[in-house]
Amino acid sequence: MTDTLVNDLAALEWDNRYTRDLPADPVDALDPEEPILPRQVTGASFTRTRPTPVAAPRLVLASGELAGRLGLDVDALATEPNVSALAGNTVLPGMDPFAMNYGGHQFGNWAGQLGDGRAIALGEIVDGDGDHHMLQLKGAGPTPYSRRADGRAVLRSSIREFLCSEAMFHLGVPTTRALSLVRTGDDVVRDMFYDGNAAPEPGAIVCRVAPSFVRLGTFELPTSRGDTDLLRTVTEAAIRHSYPHLVADDGAVTETAIAAFVTEVVQRTARLMADWMRVGFVHGVMNTDNLSILGVTIDYGPYGFLDDVDPDWTPNTTDFGQRRYRYANQPRVAGWNLARFASALVPLMDGTDELQAALDGYFPAYSDAFLATQTAKLGVGVRPEDTDDGRHDPLVTDLWELLPKVETDFTRTFRLLGSADLIDTDGVDRTWDALATDVFYRPEQLDDEITSAWRSWLERLAERVRAEGREPAERQAAGDAVNPIYLLRNWLSQEAIDAATAGDEEPLRRLFDVVRDPFTERAGLEHYAGRRPDWARNAPGCSTLSCSS
Ligand code: AMP
Ligand code: MG
Repeated sequence: MTDTLVNDLAALEWDNRYTRDLPADPVDALDPEEPILPRQVTGASFTRTRPTPVAAPRLVLASGELAGRLGLDVDALATEPNVSALAGNTVLPGMDPFAMNYGGHQFGNWAGQLGDGRAIALGEIVDGDGDHHMLQLKGAGPTPYSRRADGRAVLRSSIREFLCSEAMFHLGVPTTRALSLVRTGDDVVRDMFYDGNAAPEPGAIVCRVAPSFVRLGTFELPTSRGDTDLLRTVTEAAIRHSYPHLVADDGAVTETAIAAFVTEVVQRTARLMADWMRVGFVHGVMNTDNLSILGVTIDYGPYGFLDDVDPDWTPNTTDFGQRRYRYANQPRVAGWNLARFASALVPLMDGTDELQAALDGYFPAYSDAFLATQTAKLGVGVRPEDTDDGRHDPLVTDLWELLPKVETDFTRTFRLLGSADLIDTDGVDRTWDALATDVFYRPEQLDDEITSAWRSWLERLAERVRAEGREPAERQAAGDAVNPIYLLRNWLSQEAIDAATAGDEEPLRRLFDVVRDPFTERAGLEHYAGRRPDWARNAPGCSTLSCSS
């Protein structure tokens, strides 16, 4: 960690290894004379390009922990020259702004070149530990990859991205971070419901931070164009930057290293999927351009957290037809995306055996991670004798059969089960009573059959807890440390968005505070631990979100 914090972004140590090590588009749109026109960019990984200034930037939120990690005093972010830099109005010394080039499969179909259409990276900061952090402005204006869109982002989606990045971090889910949220003072026109009623909305810019923003689709694009030289350069740089332990002593990136790279991406993604399932997160747009090679959550759009347990739920209205990216399908879709990634690397390999072996590791890794996270949520250990094949625990599998039968709140159920005192003889009765009042949206759905199924499942959990003999207090502490009480539910975000749009940013700041400590129950925060209220059941922004952002 850096001991002294600086108060100027330009005073940090910038080391722009991405633009140094990767081939640039010969068109340099940092030059103010160069028009920024949408085009196909071949033979290059990025285009230098300038952010487009905004009318009246004002800092709304900043992440103190992240600023500290970067060596910045968070209070200084609201002052100049930082606000101007975080709004794209000024490019500070040390920065080298650019948009990345990548492709992707969208909803299962190859979409060709996509690229950073509304993201402009400013460059990379090296922190006190020597780690690189790329800073990227989302919504900073058009780039050569904007296609027909404007390169901007609206306040509501920027609030959602900022809050969720930080919420996920504090939930222990790997994610890109958010340093700042700036209102631009400009309006952005969006057709939120895709019904022909476009309207102006306040614009905003989030500064996202990650060690790397390279996506699975980064490798697919050169391969789709038969550009093996570029593919090799991109792959070697990704390994040197993000997986340096795979580089041979003589500095070479061998075929073995590439296979190991794929293995690590596969393993990390498998664990990420188990983490999403653990917190009830639905990404909403799991296209290959929206999956990171670091196995971190990236590109928060029409995402959501489960209120009631509905394995088929997706908040994304664009996906209502096939529900490809529904909650329970995410692990499978990630496997499919990883197969596209591995296929893209085939031109660099002699055969496909090693890549296939890496992919074959996906589902076992996912199952292991799922078992570990789910048993932890239930406050029990993993014992091989409790599983049917070393990987699946019927206690978990049967609970997942039960949960969707009636409308059951995901987060509150696990918070209760993971800490319930089941050692003593009335434990099951008390736990059932607590469930009955706390987690079911429509208690009238509880018929005798479901009630008795629940009670016999609780008996099994109690038997297991008794067999393990853990102290109730210890079990409760462990359960509460993995089952959040406060979650960034869509309706909570929507309340904060509505208030901020109307000029009151206090609810937004309060929500940000709450989600930074999701596991510790605190007095006065009952609202944030509550079930989804009725008004939010079918409300836009809550149960449904469009990609219009
Ligand atoms: P997504 O799947 O939402 O991450 O975005 C898919 C592609 O569309 C990416 O290449 C984005 O950069 C691009 N895109 C999305 N919204 C805009 C926008 N308002 N302006 C320019 N490009 C955009
Ligand atoms: Mg994207």
